[in-house]
Amino acid sequence: MIVALLAAFQLAAASPSANALVVKDASRKVSVPIVTSPTGPLVRPDQLRPVVPITVSHLTGDRWMLIVGASSIEVEEGVRFARVGETEFQLARAPEVRKGFLYVPLQLVVELVPRIASNLAWDAAHYELRSFSASTHYEDRAVAQAGRATTTARREQKEVEPSDERTSRGLAVPVSSTPTGPLRSRRLVVVDAGHGGPDAGMRGPIAGGPRVAEKNITLAVAKRVGAALGQRGIDVKYTRTTDTLIALSDRGRIANDAHADLFVSIHVNAANPGWKDPGAARGFETYFLAEAKTEDARRVERMENEVVKFETRAAARAGDPLSFILNDMAQNEHLRESNELAELIQRRIGRIHPGPSRGVKQAGFRVLVTAFMPAVLVEIGFGTNAGEASYMTDPNRMDELSAAVADAVLEYLKRYERRVATGTGAGTAGDVARQ
Ligand SMILES: [Zn+2]
Repeated sequence: MIVALLAAFQLAAASPSANALVVKDASRKVSVPIVTSPTGPLVRPDQLRPVVPITVSHLTGDRWMLIVGASSIEVEEGVRFARVGETEFQLARAPEVRKGFLYVPLQLVVELVPRIASNLAWDAAHYELRSFSASTHYEDRAVAQAGRATTTARREQKEVEPSDERTSRGLAVPVSSTPTGPLRSRRLVVVDAGHGGPDAGMRGPIAGGPRVAEKNITLAVAKRVGAALGQRGIDVKYTRTTDTLIALSDRGRIANDAHADLFVSIHVNAANPGWKDPGAARGFETYFLAEAKTEDARRVERMENEVVKFETRAAARAGDPLSFILNDMAQNEHLRESNELAELIQRRIGRIHPGPSRGVKQAGFRVLVTAFMPAVLVEIGFGTNAGEASYMTDPNRMDELSAAVADAVLEYLKRYERRVATGTGAGTAGDVARQ
């Protein structure tokens, strides 16, 4: 283990000239409030989003992980060190948790984060953190719409990088590094259609019109995702292919027993009835396993975990395995891998989906807890919204959505193979089991 000192260390002692840190790229700007404390300024790193694609995960106990691009920074509440790989950096003050949010010294954000994300620069004179990319890969409406406009052209020349992809170049997954050519080895993806049998999942839409049940949409889309993966040379296993109930813990076990490389669960979102205009909520989001960070993520987590009430006592596992799993170092590696897969899925769907990208999120889904491999859960749209309910039940649109998910999986696997080949990636549980 190495302890490294940060160059501009004196920053921590200086009092900020502003009460907010400006984070900007060519098209966007966010203002991150600076909290003063006796030993120096603190900021909430999650507030750098969406300009900086940073993910803040509470691991276990006092430990937290910040994922920026392909790198992660580990910090601990009350400990004046941050760790990047085997290197430890001394911090001006210890991170703190206030009202459930992690606060880190400003120094970490303006000195350490730019070190690991090469397209960020700190301008001390203006108190600005600048991102050089034209835009991040967190699709905003403009990028999503640009993608949609060129969907047809894109399909005709799949292997050629479409020119407008430059607008969605991100920190975490730069488009230019997408490997081409076939996968080097056979890969197996478990595709999980959410809900089933007595558990219909959500029902919609709120405003009336043709009624939809989540379990039917997820099954139809999951089968299409499987077919699209097959066309891309990827092996597929389904958790269900009929209208039947599979316990949440069994879904992960199916993936583990098959030594799958990835687990992808398909779901349909439902608006919170307490929202101002619940029928109007639209968009798609992709989750990976971690403790839920926001009230909205907790809402989706509660909704997707509710099926446990349909399961027999034998099927429902005793205790809460989440804290145990997150304690596992292998799972921590999967956290980063899952995050990348989730980012790629959001970006691909963003090119074709009429709704807004609600981003990559994290929550403690039981269905993901039991899968010892990178695992994501995709909420493909809001069944409570009349427009999206009909979008998600249109066979052509379902094909398009499924192709987007399959393309993201293929891209992820290619990146993964390249990382393993260059010795910079960790293996998945599936790989370990196969060797
Ligand atoms: Zn669901």
